[in-house]
Amino acid sequence: MYRREETKPVRVGGVQIGGSGEVVIQSMTTTDTRDVEATVQQIWDLAGAGCQIVRLAVPDEEAARAIRAIKERSPIPIVADIHFDYKLALLALESGVDKIRINPGNIGSKEKVKAVVEACKARGVPIRIGVNAGSIEKPLLEKYGHPTPEAMVESALKHVEILEDLDFTDIVISLKASNVPMMIEAYRRMAEMRPYPLHVGVTEAGPVFSGSIKSAVGIGTVLALGIGNTIRVSLTADPVEEIKVAKEILKALGLRQEGPEIVACPSCGRAQIDQIALATKVEQAIATLKRPIKVAVMGCAVNGPGEAREADVGVAGGRGEGLIFRKGKIVRKVKEDELFEELMKEIDALIREESGE
Ligand code: SF4
Repeated sequence: MYRREETKPVRVGGVQIGGSGEVVIQSMTTTDTRDVEATVQQIWDLAGAGCQIVRLAVPDEEAARAIRAIKERSPIPIVADIHFDYKLALLALESGVDKIRINPGNIGSKEKVKAVVEACKARGVPIRIGVNAGSIEKPLLEKYGHPTPEAMVESALKHVEILEDLDFTDIVISLKASNVPMMIEAYRRMAEMRPYPLHVGVTEAGPVFSGSIKSAVGIGTVLALGIGNTIRVSLTADPVEEIKVAKEILKALGLRQEGPEIVACPSCGRAQIDQIALATKVEQAIATLKRPIKVAVMGCAVNGPGEAREADVGVAGGRGEGLIFRKGKIVRKVKEDELFEELMKEIDALIREESGE
């Protein structure tokens, strides 16, 4: 539905970002990277939820060294998040990290930048340049007055050019802001300037409820423009929640067919069954399904049969009863108190048949 702009493909371990590939989901651990056990456990939790690349904070040498042991047990590629210190970048690279996030303009002397770039080149490791509206360089703030999309893009280009001058183009760029219109405009402008893949996110988005909405609007709008190659939903919560939200964003845009999609009306005075309770129960019951399946739970005959017919399995409420649909056909009429069980039976049967059991 949304034509994806082609970008330069960048490989992060076994995962490709950009090219014409899928939009990759990533997150960041909240554990202390030096605590290998806890970090590995959280990475497995994230990978189990659908995370494809994980970033780890690397604040000191011990954390940079811990990457080696973490990497040996990680099912997904690892990104080292480094600020300023080129030695940490070199150590993380020695530990086998798959990508580093560092801004070359903040490393210091040209020799230091060169050392990091050469080590990345030797190992085929890409660099993400991460511009954040909250930490725009002083000269740019003076030029633009305050953080703006133009200032963010100019900042990113400055870092990009440092790498390009060293003949390094294995680059991913992010331009995050907590202000949604600002980040949308920054990504839109950046996509016109360079062919590198974009890592999209709304930074400091907030706790689960408000953060998910902000992220969905910001990330969703950028993706709907046909740009953006990897996404990170930043929530003040267990990072597994970030993966759930990221998957829903991709599913809503038709960029991912995976797991269940539930279509449910909001209910209204015309509903003839307890539609809200039924839809909530169904959503919980199918939440962990891996294969794509569309399930409709509708309250009455106004829009019910239409939506239920278009779903793989659906129910349209009637007076104290409901019609069960499967692949566009009515399969039976059941009493309201049996609707949940009967709907789940149809879902199970459909999954079994389609998987050839
Ligand atoms: Fe109301 Fe029926 Fe529409 Fe549901 S399908 S919102 S119950 S009119």
